[in-house]
Amino acid sequence: MQNTVTPTHCPYCALQCGMNLTPAADGTVEVGERADFPVNRGALCGKGRTAPQVLASGARLTSPLVRSADGALVPAGWDEALDRIAGGLARTRAERGADAVGVFGGGGLTNEKAYALGKFARVVLGTSQIDYNGRFCMSSAAAAGTKAFGLDRGLPFPLEDIPRTGCVILVGSNPAETMPPSLRYFTELRENGGTLIVVDPRRTRTAEQADLHLAPRPGTDLALALGMLHLVVAEGRVDERYVEERTAGWEEARAAAMAHWPEYVERITGVSVPELREAVRLFCAPEAAMVLTARGPEQQAKGTDTVGAWINLCLATGRAGRPLSGYGCLTGQGNGQGGREHGQKADQLPGYRRLTDPAARLHVAGVWGVDPDSLPGPGRSAYELLDALGTDVRALLLMGSNPVVSAPRAAHVEERIRSLDFLAVCDVVLSETAALADVVLPVTQWAEETGTTTNLEGRVLLRRRAVTPPDGVRGDLEVLHGLADRLGVEKGFPTEPEEVFEELRRASAGGPADYSGIDYRRLGEGNGVFWPCPAPGSEGPPHPGTPRLFLDRFATGDGRARFAAVAHRPSAEEPDEAYPVLLTTGRVLAQYQSGAQTRRVAELNNAAPGPFVELHPRLAARLGAAEGDPLAVVSRRGRAVAPARITTGIRPDTVFMPFHWPGEGRANTLTNPALDPTSRMPEFKVCAVRVEVAR
Ligand code: SF4
Repeated sequence: MQNTVTPTHCPYCALQCGMNLTPAADGTVEVGERADFPVNRGALCGKGRTAPQVLASGARLTSPLVRSADGALVPAGWDEALDRIAGGLARTRAERGADAVGVFGGGGLTNEKAYALGKFARVVLGTSQIDYNGRFCMSSAAAAGTKAFGLDRGLPFPLEDIPRTGCVILVGSNPAETMPPSLRYFTELRENGGTLIVVDPRRTRTAEQADLHLAPRPGTDLALALGMLHLVVAEGRVDERYVEERTAGWEEARAAAMAHWPEYVERITGVSVPELREAVRLFCAPEAAMVLTARGPEQQAKGTDTVGAWINLCLATGRAGRPLSGYGCLTGQGNGQGGREHGQKADQLPGYRRLTDPAARLHVAGVWGVDPDSLPGPGRSAYELLDALGTDVRALLLMGSNPVVSAPRAAHVEERIRSLDFLAVCDVVLSETAALADVVLPVTQWAEETGTTTNLEGRVLLRRRAVTPPDGVRGDLEVLHGLADRLGVEKGFPTEPEEVFEELRRASAGGPADYSGIDYRRLGEGNGVFWPCPAPGSEGPPHPGTPRLFLDRFATGDGRARFAAVAHRPSAEEPDEAYPVLLTTGRVLAQYQSGAQTRRVAELNNAAPGPFVELHPRLAARLGAAEGDPLAVVSRRGRAVAPARITTGIRPDTVFMPFHWPGEGRANTLTNPALDPTSRMPEFKVCAVRVEVAR
């Protein structure tokens, strides 16, 4: 395999940038430009460029670890480790029932792994208790998109449409730091005469490039969207014909928006009436426009309604299901899109089918060769599952996630994990969660294995194996095969990714996310295929895939999009005398999610070595804090300490902390697990805190 150039994709974010990997004789791996891949055209951010360093990291696990009698994790053979896991899961199931065993997945797992993990939970363990960390990522956008359009696909159009539209409103999204190569789409938009509006409480690197930056108080962008819709109506900018022909529910949504007077919205959000008017003018002036959301509006206890309000704005102005227009979500994790389609979600079967749909159960059970009545029903959502550990759920198999750092109310989640009877973790390094396990399995990484992912556009991609994995590690599919075998299911869990994908094709056939017309050969020859892509009839040509959705009709029963009748409501936790400041959390350029991988790369660590508390000079003056002073941030859930970073680029009533680190600077110690009633998304983006200089 040496000196062979392998075209593949980055392991990190949902852009899934193309790259070429070339292993060298000294064991290093060179990253080369893959200019032919249209999404990033050769550009990579520092995370992608340095990703091979994680392959050779000294922190890499190369042997299973098991908890010894004296409490230490010690190396063990694979058979012993798999026996222990199978024994732990089987014992819990026998003593307490199948739902006492939980499974927790991740949005970075390939489609094949996500599919196999869901099947493993439901067929081998018989448990309903499976969910994954993607619930923390985009579930509100998925819920709102499904309500409005009958189908959720992050972007229902390709990224290449962005530079050709007239205006983009980016809500709670900072692609300049989270997915830098995507910034060129917005730069080109402006070069082409289009306008960019950024909605963010912080003046981020993305906001700096905007024509208009609106900085609402965290947790109030639902009101902001309603205020804009109010002005759209008041200024006669509604596309009446489109509303009549392609939507339903307008009167209720209109009435709700009309109750949100601009002056009232100004008081709630802090965005002035002239700014609101300017945003409406910029959005409505061109023929085509888009609204793109990310975690800002989504990670709220009213995230589904907030995204629904932004979709309303698109629908009222005739900007959805039309060329170069629409609403889209910029998904975060590497396989955030595919990871939510194939069965590792608590309420879902492969092909984006609902677990409660009898026809879906019948179809998928047929592919799996089981009785549909044997399939469990929906289980708990991610936070609710983590909160139930040690009580109703006593054993957990965890793959591709690090909730000790990334879950809300993290100290409580850590305590729940510690109280489990049995924990097994598959990971590439000893993450903070793996360190608590009874058994840790060292698994292969992106460049050491083949598999598919689906990027934020719904483009299904082939990640290829480019290097040989180290001795001692195995793939996640091998783990599931070995465990299924030990738990009495000898067939149905192949170790070859292509074999799993072939089954996934059949399981997804006819579902909303239909992959049945996609195969490895086709993916290997091109730059991906957009789902839905049904298999052709016996004589027909291959389906071309579907880059643009909803152009003729929406995926609802009557083909019409649905307005959401939503109103402003406060966040689950508002500031008060004891906790007078708002906290919002997010990411920085050089780190990724819980940092389990990126904290192991020296260049990234040097660039972003630890957490910080970003605050406005006025707040700093009130606190008597200087740049670099240790600040204690205290919420009702705990306390975190990190140095002050003073900037005028944040509202004076708000502090920001990135969430990539464990320890005393762990931002998620503070965050609020209040859940959105529909998506079950926790409220990561806003909670009330007290800030003081830690003397
Ligand atoms: Fe990887 Fe995302 Fe960076 Fe692209 S933008 S190189 S996919 S982390």
